[in-house]
Amino acid sequence: MDPEVVLAIINIVMAGMFGAVIGSFTNVCIYRIPEHRTIVKGHSMCMTCGHELGALDLVPIFSWLFLGGKCRYCKTPISSRYIKIESLTALMYILMACTHLSMFLDPADPKKNMFQFVVLCALLIMTNIVIVEMMIMKDTGSSMYVMSVALLIDLAVQVLFKVLDPVLSKALGIVSSTEKGAMSILGDLTVQIAVGAAIGFVAVFLAVLFTNNAKNLSRYFSDEKAKALRTSDLFAIVLCGCIGIIPAIVCAVVYLVSRIVIGNGKKVKYLGTYMAAGAAVGYFGYEFIRVFLK
Ligand SMILES: [Zn+2]
Repeated sequence: MDPEVVLAIINIVMAGMFGAVIGSFTNVCIYRIPEHRTIVKGHSMCMTCGHELGALDLVPIFSWLFLGGKCRYCKTPISSRYIKIESLTALMYILMACTHLSMFLDPADPKKNMFQFVVLCALLIMTNIVIVEMMIMKDTGSSMYVMSVALLIDLAVQVLFKVLDPVLSKALGIVSSTEKGAMSILGDLTVQIAVGAAIGFVAVFLAVLFTNNAKNLSRYFSDEKAKALRTSDLFAIVLCGCIGIIPAIVCAVVYLVSRIVIGNGKKVKYLGTYMAAGAAVGYFGYEFIRVFLK
């Protein structure tokens, strides 16, 4: 087998295992943070019989499957939430690894790899923070929830394009691999949207951190009054995804600075919406002038 393929498979499997472990830790966070308990120390135990759990009870995904979803000691059913979060996180990490294979396979370009790596880390950390927040707040209506679902779908689409690209190029009769097939252009587009959105996501997250304090982060997700702000933030993220990577960085910095300078008052409520509307007018205005007034 091609050593590159072997390396790719190893990396995908490792990413899945790492994801399952992170998912397991995510479960600990979801359970302990609302009870104001530490997430770094202490043994896990059965919530019914209080029996301390051993290493064999704590293997992500597999323990739940082998124990049939029941406690080994008292046979009380264990919530399926554990295996759901663990497998979802594993799947997320596998998808991310699939879309970033060149990071592992192309050591010749360390600058490109470093950039991809930073984006990858940001995406992974953000997505897990969102999962923890949403599980704690039982929040499935906010823009942040919509955003993370969109991110997951986008990743799946990227993987699909990666898989389909060589097949379709061949079917369409494009022999040279350097020639761009329609699929690889679409693939590039999704990567651009994902990276742009990730930049916007980081800016929004930092803005929330700086304008609230970290303690109030859960209120940002749950507060009915913050709904307009969340929707506005979503617009800013979408804007960053649409306008390309370099303008997204500029836009994200402007958004971040404005949010921090203005604070958390009523004035920032529609900031993202205004920026998105302004960018749309600017973009289409420019296109209009370029095409029709030339
Ligand atoms: Zn038990």
